[in-house]
Amino acid sequence: MTKIVVCGVAGRMGQRLANLSLAAEDLELVGGKEHPAHTAVGRDIGEIIGTQRLNLEVSDTLSGVIDPDRVVVNFTTPEATLEDAALCAERGTSMVVGTTGFTPDQLDEFKHIVANITCVFASNFSTAMNVLFKLVEETARILGDDYDVEITEAHHRHKVDAPSGSALTLAARAAAGLDRNLREVLIHGRQGVVGERTRQEIGMHAIRAGDLAGEHSVLFAAPGEYLELKHHATSRDSFALGALRAARFAAEAEPRLYSMGDVLGL
Ligand code: NAP
Repeated sequence: MTKIVVCGVAGRMGQRLANLSLAAEDLELVGGKEHPAHTAVGRDIGEIIGTQRLNLEVSDTLSGVIDPDRVVVNFTTPEATLEDAALCAERGTSMVVGTTGFTPDQLDEFKHIVANITCVFASNFSTAMNVLFKLVEETARILGDDYDVEITEAHHRHKVDAPSGSALTLAARAAAGLDRNLREVLIHGRQGVVGERTRQEIGMHAIRAGDLAGEHSVLFAAPGEYLELKHHATSRDSFALGALRAARFAAEAEPRLYSMGDVLGL
């Protein structure tokens, strides 16, 4: 039985993570956290996630709900994740982190904090998306410099960061396949008289609309043909189920930082 604590349990991902933990026979939901100002704090988790009473209160701190035999699953904000990671590192508690939108400095700080605990960190926990990451790098390597690479992502209107963490990972994997430095070649959107496209650039475009759960497309185009690799998330469950698969893995794995590719053996 893997014991799960969900941070941001009242959030969109947090609610699905808690619900799917309850539904899984080998997982036990043992706690949930929200920030101190959240109206969910002190209420029963079941009431917050729309199930029967669970006799588990939403806590405003991790300190009372974590132990080394539990896995903390965190899909919140970069600031909240850094705070929670520090406590998990102090207590030797494993983590699964899906939060996106870290600045480069926050990302360095996060990796430093979790260096000595088991932590699975991924910008996208969907199993099929992780297969796409691998395919994009492989395709870029095979097609090479003759094909222009353009990435498009579309998400719901509430998403606060852009482009998505997954779109950035797709760009990084394409750049790796092409042996390019992503920082030098990534172009975000285009506006005005920007001149002809350079052969090296990788274009990135973010759409925000309605309730889209997440769409990513990587276009490889050359004169006469194009190849488009696409992933569609039809609900948040694709991410939540992948994160819970990672939690089962984290409960058994040696302390270090893992990717979802490690969990899936890709
Ligand atoms: P959301 O609905 O806004 O949920 C985030 C939750 O975390 C909210 O309930 C928020 O409370 C809460 N929170 C903020 N600070 C906290 C703290 N200090 N302690 C505990 N809880 C805190 O957002 P979401 O759609 O679930 O997404 C959450 C994150 O996961 C985002 O970064 C998103 O991009 C990412 N995500 C990743 C994946 C993946 O596969 N890696 C998939 C989907 C989403 P308030 O509402 O009061 O702010």
